[in-house]
Amino acid sequence: RIANLGYGSRKQVAQMFREGRITDLEGRALYADDDVPHAQVRVDGVPLDPPPGLVLMMHKPLGVTCSRKDPGRLVYDLLPPRYRHRQPALSTVGRLDRDTSGLLLVTDDGQLLHRIISPRAQVAKVYEAELAQDLRGDEGALFASGTLRLEGETTPLLPARLEVLGPRRARLTLTEGRYHQVRRMFAAVGNHVLALYRAAMGRLTLDGLQPGAWRVLAPGEIEAVF
Ligand code: URA
Repeated sequence: RIANLGYGSRKQVAQMFREGRITDLEGRALYADDDVPHAQVRVDGVPLDPPPGLVLMMHKPLGVTCSRKDPGRLVYDLLPPRYRHRQPALSTVGRLDRDTSGLLLVTDDGQLLHRIISPRAQVAKVYEAELAQDLRGDEGALFASGTLRLEGETTPLLPARLEVLGPRRARLTLTEGRYHQVRRMFAAVGNHVLALYRAAMGRLTLDGLQPGAWRVLAPGEIEAVF
């Protein structure tokens, strides 16, 4: 169980038990087969990392990527190195571009991940965009119409909600997640996205979390996504 959290190989973890580094709340050394609740286990005096079923929320900064296939720094590099060796492995819930910042969920729960990104779930994703050109005024109606087609695609986009925040600033709420969707929607109306930030998924917001920071979500908070 502890090896699967990335603390080391089975052999290394067995050694940690022998050295008395894995203890209960009172600092008493545990044996590998002791049945102590996860929350009461300490490693070198520090609480054990969360068990499988982990969901964390990150404020993804600009310049890091979600895909392990892309070159450069990954969002996973913002987590403790140990998290890279967890089984089951962590994945991002959908993706944000390298040049997009904001709310990103990361989980090892494949079922939950598919539930959230499934088109049927229609989880609202809220983006704030800074634009190169002034808004024309007709974008909101077009985005809401359910008839807009992105270049190269045959199915029209589902209705999306545009809120104008300024001449070149807008909030856009989507319930699907097509490739580069926000950037391509604004391109379709003759504009260009200069900066893009995801502010919310469902009712979940970053709530003061700074760029690069993350925290583990409680079960009740995960439900707020839907
Ligand atoms: N739409 C985009 O264009 N980029 C993102 O990262 C997310 C949505």
